[in-house]
Amino acid sequence: MKRVAVIPGDGIGKEVMDAAMLILERLEMPFEYVWLEAGDEAEKKYGKPLPDETLEEVRKSDAVLFGAAGETAADVIVRLRQELNTFANIRPARTFRGVESIHSDVNMVIVRENTECLYKGLEFEVADGVTEAVRVITREASERIVRYAFELAKREGRKRVTALHKANVMKKTCGLFKQVFYEVAGEYEGIEANDYYIDAACMYMAMRPQMFDVIVTTNMFGDIVSDLAAGVVGGLGLAPSANIGERHAIFEPVHGAAFDIAGKGIANPTAMILTACMMLRHFGYLSEAERVERAVEKVIAEGRTTPDLGGSLKTMEMAEEIAKLL
Ligand code: ATP
Ligand code: MG
Repeated sequence: MKRVAVIPGDGIGKEVMDAAMLILERLEMPFEYVWLEAGDEAEKKYGKPLPDETLEEVRKSDAVLFGAAGETAADVIVRLRQELNTFANIRPARTFRGVESIHSDVNMVIVRENTECLYKGLEFEVADGVTEAVRVITREASERIVRYAFELAKREGRKRVTALHKANVMKKTCGLFKQVFYEVAGEYEGIEANDYYIDAACMYMAMRPQMFDVIVTTNMFGDIVSDLAAGVVGGLGLAPSANIGERHAIFEPVHGAAFDIAGKGIANPTAMILTACMMLRHFGYLSEAERVERAVEKVIAEGRTTPDLGGSLKTMEMAEEIAKLL
């Protein structure tokens, strides 16, 4: 029995969470759901956007399913990632038949290191008008993220893992990352390993994104290239993500609270439902995840969607269409 902390949060977070829960309940998974509060509304109620009770319960859970937080996002989700020490940020980017985008047949997963690089906060003003930032890359964190990428490739039957770096300029930091990448790659026969400079990779991403399968990279490059990938495949309403740690995992759609459409019942539930699929895969329920993903594809391809994708369905109506196919 897995314990899942469910945090709908603010705005459309609540609406898309209801949709995802409809799907999970239809699958009758052996999960115990613990509903928790966090975000703008929680702050108004308890004086804290991430109440102590929520954090306590989250620590006891195997996974967090998170909707969205509004103004308080940094205090909630960024804090949760730190508290739960989630070292890997996973962002799949794929195209859907029936959704307009610059390319078709794109299906990649970006695995971004989530704990070091330029995100350590080591920034200094060393003299008046002179600033510096420290980029930390360790063998330990590099090995952990590269291994995660290869394990993901193995689990999902993916064929290639590509490392992105700039080892010709950052000889020490990127040099170490690249070296560790090929050391670990050697342990995975049958999965192709290659690497590109980050700048060249961005050009390929725009022109020929089909050449990528699994990408693994350091924190800052991963931040940039995952947004680029999301843009290439077309849209926030479709983009899921996961933050994975040794013990904990947080699953959240890439989009936020989207207050402009909140309360209207028209938010696209796809990103949240695909996020729930990532949780299913994380727990090893691959066939269940696959069933939901196929259902999502079919519903989108047939135009049974929310208005953002050109359809006329409400959030829960689209979820119901998906649920019917399960
Ligand atoms: P936050 O500040 O929490 O990130 P935001 O106001 O920036 O929220 P996002 O959620 O990041 O809003 O989304 C930006 C815009 O994209 C929204 O205003 C909304 O119109 C659209 N959007 C985002 N998610 C969805 C969705 N699931 N369905 C439909 N439209 C969406
Ligand atoms: Mg936003």
